[in-house]
Formats: sequence, C-alpha cells, structure tokens
Amino acid sequence: MRIEFHGAAREVTGSCHLVDCGGVRILLDCGMIQGGRERHERNREPFPFDPRTLDCVILSHAHIDHSGRLPLLRKAGYHGPIVTTAPTAQLLEIMLADSGRIQEEDARWTIRRLEKRKKDTSWVTALYTEEDAIAVLDQLVPVPLGGTHTLPRAGTVTFVPAGHILGAATIDLRLDDEGTSRRLVFSGDLGVQGARLLPRPQSVDCPDYLIMESTYGDRDRANEGDRTERLFDIIQRTMRRKGKVIIPAFAVGRTQEVLTRINDLVEAGRLPDARVYVDSPMAVAATRAFALHPEAYSRPVRELMEDGDAPLYFEGLELVSRVEDSMALNESRRPAVIISASGMCTAGRIKHHLKHSITNSRNTVVFVGYQASGSLGQVIQAGTNPIRIFGEWYPLNARVETIEGFSAHADRRELLEWFASLGDAPTRTFVVHGEEAVSLHFADTLAKQFNAPVTVPKRGQHFELS
Ligand SMILES: [Zn+2]
Repeated sequence: MRIEFHGAAREVTGSCHLVDCGGVRILLDCGMIQGGRERHERNREPFPFDPRTLDCVILSHAHIDHSGRLPLLRKAGYHGPIVTTAPTAQLLEIMLADSGRIQEEDARWTIRRLEKRKKDTSWVTALYTEEDAIAVLDQLVPVPLGGTHTLPRAGTVTFVPAGHILGAATIDLRLDDEGTSRRLVFSGDLGVQGARLLPRPQSVDCPDYLIMESTYGDRDRANEGDRTERLFDIIQRTMRRKGKVIIPAFAVGRTQEVLTRINDLVEAGRLPDARVYVDSPMAVAATRAFALHPEAYSRPVRELMEDGDAPLYFEGLELVSRVEDSMALNESRRPAVIISASGMCTAGRIKHHLKHSITNSRNTVVFVGYQASGSLGQVIQAGTNPIRIFGEWYPLNARVETIEGFSAHADRRELLEWFASLGDAPTRTFVVHGEEAVSLHFADTLAKQFNAPVTVPKRGQHFELS
C-alpha cells in the first residue's frame, strides 16, 4: 500500500490524500487551498497525479477545504464515483454551488480592478463556475452516516460519525492489499464533545495505519461555562433594552448549533415572545438540509425529535430568504435576534445588519466563532471605534459580546482522548490538517504519550507501507 499526501500536509486547508492499494487508487478528500491570494492561486496548478487514473473519491465532510477542488477534478477528467454520507451530499449541493458563484464573482472583481487600470484582462478566468460545481453533484454516491459501502476490487469503507459538521465522518477503510487485509483510518475533522446538536466523535478500533487531523493539536479550550446560559443572559438583557441581538455565524453548522440552543430556551418558556430570524439564504437552505437528516444528530436531540419536537424550529423563528424581507428587517426597530452570515462579517447580509445596528447602544453584537485578524468581525470584536462598513464610518455604540466554545473542532485534550480510544497505537500514524508548528507539536505529544510511531508528512511526500 502506498499513501501520498497532496494537501493539508503541514497546513490546514486543501485536504487531499491518495491511497494506492494493489493498483486501486482512492482519493481521500479534494479540498480547496484557502488563506490569501498566494495560497488560492495554488488551486490552479494541475493535480500532482492523473485524475483519470483514480478509481474512487471518498469525502469526509462538506467543508470547502475538503471538497472545494472536486469541480476541478472533474474538469481534469475524473468522472467516477464520489462516495460520501447522505447529509454531506445534501450540503454539497448548497456549498459547492456557492463556491462556484464565489469563484465567478472573484473573477469579475479582478476584471473590474484591471479595467480601471487599463490593463489586459483576457487571462482572467474563474477557477470554476457554478455550472462546473453543479455538474459534479451527479457523481456523488450517498451512503448513510454510520453505513458501510463496498468499493469494487478494493474492499469496504465505513463512515463513522465524527461530529464535526452535519454528516461529517471518520473514514474507516478495509482494503485488500495483495491478499492481506489492511485497515486505514482517516479521522477527517473531529468535532467537540459538548456540542448540542451533533454527536460526539465516535471511536474506532485501532487500525494498521492512521491519518489524523491536528487543527487544535496545541491548545485546550478554557472551560467556557454553559454557553446556552450565556446566550440566554445576553438575549434577555438586550430584549429588556428593546434592542436587537445580532449574531454573525457561519451558515452551515454554527447557525444550527445556536438555533438548537435558542430552541431549548424557547421551549423551556424562558424567552417568551422572542422573535428570531435566520437571515442568510445559505443558512436557510442548510437549516432545511439539517432538518432532513435526524439520523446525524446527537442522541439527546434525536430523543427530543422522537417526542415530536423539531430542534431547529420553534415558535417565533423566521427563515428569511428574500432580499426584500432582509432589507425590511434591517430597517425594523423591533427587538429581535438576528442570525446572519458570513461568520466573520466579511461578506453577505450580516454587513447590512451591522451597519444598521452598531450605532445604537440598545443593541448587542454576539460573536460565536473565530474572527480572523483583519476581518470586519475582528475589528468590531476588538472594540475599534468608529467602524468602517461599505466605505463609510459608523460609531460603535452597541455592546459587543463573545461566547467562546462553539467551535466545530476538537481541542488538544479531545484529540488525545480520541487517539486513546483506539485502544492501541497504529503501526504508523500520519498527522495532517494543522499549521506546521501545531502538527509537529501534536505529533510529538502522540509519540511521547503513546509511544507511537508518528510522522508529519510534507506536501508531495509518499510512503510505501507493508
Ligand atoms: Zn471541516
């Protein structure tokens, strides 16, 4: 068996690993390389393998840094199966199409910028289009989360719940390696243990070989207290002031996790008359996709559903898709909770909500996710005053709160617990999906704590495993 690392090796994005087992070639993930212009341009480079020689692609989850180069793989000649969980397949319909639109918008923006400077624009093309993205969806082969699928000539793949986002799985491969059965596990991205909506990452039996993520391999989250109670406190205080609570959140995952917690509060009668809006077309579509896959939820939430409750819908909730409704909501002065994207306030309807609400001291902006430095979200979170939105300056009078711990990623302690739950150390472990220093640190911790043979592969590196 041979493994080649073609992405998320000593970096976080671009997840892409190639397994060759007795001539059967399986690609694990095909993610977009993200993080600034220079990195983004690398997506345009040809794949370092011939996509036409692949037998199968297996996808751990829908995040674009794991799925975003699939349209390029198709354009480069791969027309075979892309096996993934049913909820992931559903989310991909939304997320890949959105990614295609973003690439087209990006190209239009570059053309406008060049035209202003009277420069040549003939070389500018979108990385791929919405149409390219939609074409890939035909190749998806959905398997139930927790289910096993037979790979022709190769063996089987089982999708073990990883709890990271809806449908996210750890990939458990049983492969026939010239007469010997080998197990290779790819952790995918592992979720947190304290999520409300999604299950905790499930453990697997110790495999022969392991590819493991290490995003937060160097840090433990502080004990954040009860996030639902903090949210309740903030909403209640803002309602008393007759203000709005504005929550910037990623459309897929974070929005639904926050909704479940508000649902708990509403159903307990603690937020009577609360009006809650989800104002982001992608979040609305994702919320509907979530509602279709109860099998992918945590046990307590599944039990609620068996009792007839819908954890993402409650009285007072409105899903806003139309632009006119979103604009009306901007203007409205009635107290409300508004959840909108993008999560870091860099684009989307959230910018309009912020523009209309940050000047009023009755309102509260609540951050529930990571704010990258330089993003509008980070500028507001830091308390900068005034704030520039759409080229104009606004005084920041609204209160600003942060609730930590809504992360979709396991921290160091949770990663180590997951590794310990294997019961034994694999013959070989490869640490991927982390900033270089973090992956090296985490690999060192694993090696010392479990006396395990651990490698942090470099991009392009390959390993023959016997
Ligand atoms: Zn992810």
